Amino acid sequence: MKLQRRSAFGWPGTAAGYAPCKNGLVVHYDGANKGLARKPHSACVDYWKWCRRFHMGTRGWADVGYSYAVCAHGYVMEGRGWQRQQAAQPGGNSTWTSVTFMSGPAERPTAAQIGASATCGTGSAARDSPQPCRTTAGSSRRPAPARSCAAS
Ligand SMILES: [Zn+2]
Repeated sequence: MKLQRRSAFGWPGTAAGYAPCKNGLVVHYDGANKGLARKPHSACVDYWKWCRRFHMGTRGWADVGYSYAVCAHGYVMEGRGWQRQQAAQPGGNSTWTSVTFMSGPAERPTAAQIGASATCGTGSAARDSPQPCRTTAGSSRRPAPARSCAAS
């Protein structure tokens, strides 16, 4: 897992307040196929920055809507971060951690992407030490269904 903190994108600390987000991980995907797996990682960073601008400028949110993004190259890119109020999943914004795969409905997640996402539901991405995700198979907790985001 390769972690990029928000400072790597030139972003200040998040304005999102504390929320426990203890239920597990909600995986989001985009409404359009971005093709980022075929592009250099810099395209992922550009898209992540675009997401934040869109969420703040158009949606009027306090920050990018998700806690994390994971890309096809296996990077975890920090958004709001661990235990912060989310904006991407109405009804679950204080109880679930969100991660976007930045992939479209016809794009199959890469193994690196899935592996990276496993660090996002436990806070281990925040500590920069990969650990198994509690929401994966074999867990007593189940993740919420994957959902498409209008913020594509
Ligand atoms: Zn990437």
